[in-house]
Amino acid sequence: MSSAIEKVVIIGSGPAGWTAAIYAARANLSPVVLAGDNLGRDRVKGGQLMWTSEVENFPGFVKGIDGKELMHTMEQQAALFGTRIRSHFVTKVDFSSHPYRIFHVDDMAGEEETVTAAHTVIIATGAAANYLGLPSERKFENLGVSACAVCDGALPRFRDQPLVVVGGGDSAVEEATYLSKFASRVHLVHRRDALRASKVMANRALTNPKIVPVWNSAVEEILGTEEKGVTGVRVKNLQTHHTDVIEASGMFAAIGHTPNTKFLEGQLELNDKGYVVLKDGFRSLTSVEGVFAGGDCADSTYRQAITAAGMGCKAAIDAERYLAEHGIH
Ligand SMILES: Cc1cc2nc3c(=O)[nH]c(=O)nc-3n(C[C@H](O)[C@H](O)[C@H](O)COP(=O)(O)OP(=O)(O)OC[C@H]3O[C@@H](n4cnc5c(N)ncnc54)[C@H](O)[C@@H]3O)c2cc1C
Repeated sequence: MSSAIEKVVIIGSGPAGWTAAIYAARANLSPVVLAGDNLGRDRVKGGQLMWTSEVENFPGFVKGIDGKELMHTMEQQAALFGTRIRSHFVTKVDFSSHPYRIFHVDDMAGEEETVTAAHTVIIATGAAANYLGLPSERKFENLGVSACAVCDGALPRFRDQPLVVVGGGDSAVEEATYLSKFASRVHLVHRRDALRASKVMANRALTNPKIVPVWNSAVEEILGTEEKGVTGVRVKNLQTHHTDVIEASGMFAAIGHTPNTKFLEGQLELNDKGYVVLKDGFRSLTSVEGVFAGGDCADSTYRQAITAAGMGCKAAIDAERYLAEHGIH
């Protein structure tokens, strides 16, 4: 372990992580970002937006912006003010005593595990949308397969087209209801014969003339071509084993998210779904003093780039105040 104690270590490099870095660096805290090691979809430097080509709802970009470009720009802005960036993946943390210890590896370079000591830590490790696990999902990524209606629903490819939403819980119902504003029809495919969503939400969906439930069914395959993108899905009725094709220009997986917080288990309070529990209402404080969190790892509700960035900003300001209150300069 290096003998230096860092003032702020930020884990994660999505909108929350980079925004926290920009604020902490401008406050002269010389933050370190452990950005992910690029060895898996959820470990990529830049986070979830590295997987999308069109971001139309991040303020400041009238014509929209490519997700990768947005994230590279944030990284450059963080670096400009003195952020130190390492493409490392955090495997465990020890928050039992101060200074906190963070264990991380750089698998790309095959390095040994490094341990960094820090006065404050900002967790910004995001969450991953759960997909169905079909090979065709990856094939049609950005070509009609999505896991976020608010992000993608208004894109031209989905407007006035039939769409499919998979799932039966609150988020599936929310996605279907949201998409019904743009789509000609929304087929809500669910494995059971009733929705798991709350009664009010389920009723709202089932009385919406544009939403058509497809009960007791699972999507077997997404159909389409590289040129046209998604053109339909093949569904199987799980009771009769009969298969059918639903014509659709898009398929939205709405079967939940998994926060990237496994390495925090036993060290920080997480809720039953694994999200970091924030204390004190709308601030970024966690169950451990001096450890702050922001973005999708602590937010199962909004899950947007701009809300993640806002939470990253709060976490950096909270860390700065904590350091000042403890006389750490
Ligand atoms: C395909 C797609 C399209 C989207 N489109 C939009 C859109 O148009 N508009 C919008 O507002 N939102 C969109 N979103 C949602 C948006 O991307 C997220 O809300 C946002 O990225 C969350 O930011 P975050 O910083 O919390 O986490 P993430 O972006 O998920 O970043 C998490 C970071 O943590 C790193 N990490 C994870 N675990 C570790 C670890 N153990 N050690 C080190 N690093 C780690 C990852 O490598 C990554 O850098 C989209 C999402 C997807 C998947």
